[in-house]
Amino acid sequence: MRRPIILLACLAALSAPAVRAEGLPDLGESSQADLSPLMEKKVGEAIMQDIRLRESSYLDDPEIESYLNRIGRRLASNGEGGRQEFEFFALRDPTMNAFALPGGYIGVHTGLLLAAQSESELASVLSHEISHVTQRHIARGLSKQSFATATTLLSLAVAILASRHGGDMAMGSLMAGQAASMQNQLSYTRDFEREADRVGIQLLERSGYDARGMGAFFERLQRHGRLYENNAPGYLRTHPLTTERIADMENRIQSMPYRQVPDSLEFQLVRAKLRAEEGSSQDAVTDFATLVNDRKFTSEIAARYGYARALLRDKDYAAAEEQLAELRRLKTDSPLFETLAAELRMLQGDAAGAVKLLRAGSVRYPQERAIAYRLVEALLAAGRPKEALLATGADLQTYVSDYKMHALQAKTYAMLGKRLQQHRAQGESYVLQGLLMPAIEQFELAQKSPDGDFYEHSQVDARLRELKKRQLEEMRQKKGQQP
Ligand SMILES: [Zn+2]
Repeated sequence: MRRPIILLACLAALSAPAVRAEGLPDLGESSQADLSPLMEKKVGEAIMQDIRLRESSYLDDPEIESYLNRIGRRLASNGEGGRQEFEFFALRDPTMNAFALPGGYIGVHTGLLLAAQSESELASVLSHEISHVTQRHIARGLSKQSFATATTLLSLAVAILASRHGGDMAMGSLMAGQAASMQNQLSYTRDFEREADRVGIQLLERSGYDARGMGAFFERLQRHGRLYENNAPGYLRTHPLTTERIADMENRIQSMPYRQVPDSLEFQLVRAKLRAEEGSSQDAVTDFATLVNDRKFTSEIAARYGYARALLRDKDYAAAEEQLAELRRLKTDSPLFETLAAELRMLQGDAAGAVKLLRAGSVRYPQERAIAYRLVEALLAAGRPKEALLATGADLQTYVSDYKMHALQAKTYAMLGKRLQQHRAQGESYVLQGLLMPAIEQFELAQKSPDGDFYEHSQVDARLRELKKRQLEEMRQKKGQQP
């Protein structure tokens, strides 16, 4: 990135006009304030919450998200980031870009996922972003700034966002001016780039990927940039690629032994899924049909999976089932086949059949979030809320802070007619999304619910007191921030 801020916030880019200044934590009084790791985490969290809630391109697909997280965490585990946690997410955006937010949140555009020609190439971009985080480039860049208020932070965010697409975005002129002056003050950016490349290559190497993937990918980006001068990949705009940088990278890579690293099946499947969701459903069907019939694929499994997904989207369920049967004949398995099969059952009105498939799937792939969510949904659709309640309860023991599962549990309680528990579960889901006001409303509704025993009511009372206290503290902080 040209500017470390970029790192900072791609965030708002996303949601620039909607960004809530009040959603950003107080960064402290001191103008010299370093962005502490804790503060980075808080800022990143606030931005991430905003993205999930307001950014329309946020791709809420647990299968793609879990794939990115598997690759990303594998890379990060080979670094020296210590206890730094990472969270990877996807944005449905055709441009080739990826970016890091403070606190270890890394966003990947679907355009980049589709442009990567090998898993090592994708890993090379992730490892570069991970390195910006572990080397604390955001904090190192920002501590040099006179950067004191949330407004400044916000203008940084807006600046980043703007540079993400290189376009003009509707923003206040004051904000724009501030953002521009912020950008100009930042320095060391080339050093940061080089450092992120160096550390990133180490991560790739240690994680068993082909480090040459980095050179290959950046070269392609650069070629692309030359072809479409006015529409250079966003990644180059935020991470400028100098000849010096490429030469550096190539020197490092050349000294490494050549290794051929096959792509995982999941890499192919995730890309096929994304492709099947692009454009019109008829076009997607035609494209995959050609691929399968002319056998022009690199992976027959991925081609048939994408074909089945496109057919499902086009509501041709019988033909989708045929492709699924072909997949089963190819004797491979993937959790993505189980969710596809279950989805097809559901769409054809066979919720009980979906439950059966998902139950088996959850035993085989206990860590697949997509299967866990779909199982609860299928149980509810099949009119079996008691089983759904058992499933959510068991799941939440492991995934305590999964806001989606809490929301599914709220739905389950609603179906069971348990109002206190319904509002309580919905309230917990909101708390986990950082939505304090709506959470408090839910706990107030729980308090007024006619059902629930003495014990449950006192738990609700205690939680409500705690949340109101938290709200008060936040309000006090905000007041203190105002000049
Ligand atoms: Zn960079």
